[in-house]
Amino acid sequence: MHITKVYNWLNNKQPGRCLLCLSTDASVQHGLCEPCRRDLPWLGSRCRQCALPLPFAGQLCGQCQQHPPAYSQVICPFLYRFPLDSLVPAFKYHKQLIYGRLLAHLLADYVSFAYQEQQHALPDALIPMPLHRKRQAQRGFNQALELARPMARTLGCPMLSATLKRVQATHTQQGLTAQQRKHNLRGAFECSAPEKVTGLHLALIDDVLTTGATADEASYTLLKAGAQSVSIWCVARTP
Ligand SMILES: [Zn+2]
Ligand SMILES: [Zn+2]
Repeated sequence: MHITKVYNWLNNKQPGRCLLCLSTDASVQHGLCEPCRRDLPWLGSRCRQCALPLPFAGQLCGQCQQHPPAYSQVICPFLYRFPLDSLVPAFKYHKQLIYGRLLAHLLADYVSFAYQEQQHALPDALIPMPLHRKRQAQRGFNQALELARPMARTLGCPMLSATLKRVQATHTQQGLTAQQRKHNLRGAFECSAPEKVTGLHLALIDDVLTTGATADEASYTLLKAGAQSVSIWCVARTP
């Protein structure tokens, strides 16, 4: 069934059809039918700060207890499993913007629900996770900006896209320990206009959160520049 779904989404780009199962059911919204939406790998109980999957809700994982990250929370609807592990790479590495729009809709819906549930106001501004200019030139676009732009419109939040810059092209983080990752990322970001973020509650938007080290360093940079708080919004979390 999964193989059929992969085949479907690779070949199906007709409006009004579900991108995953080709259904033209009346429930299709933003390219997804209700049964496929329900079947998505929703992230259940998780660490209340970094969203690492945990057996019980409302707790802090060991890592967040020992070394609390700079961001205050991670809002994330999905585990990075099928079909997210197909949709995200298709969007990110093959510039299939139709999947980007779907992911932005899913994340915006989830964020609205989460903030209502927490009875918190939405952040003052959204910031897409920046790519280093070399990486962006290779890829041709920044996937986080493509997610943030429609979300800013849907949620009515302003977007600050040029305020945070990635000034160091870091090597791959794979295979590094938590401490090495932190070291590898030190000084990777710069806030070019601190006056634009001073006193603000910000949401930093990214596609997938893996260890959270990049999100931590970017949040640290914004807080140091004077931001009041930083929440991370991402589509999927790796366990
Ligand atoms: Zn479907
Ligand atoms: Zn945690």
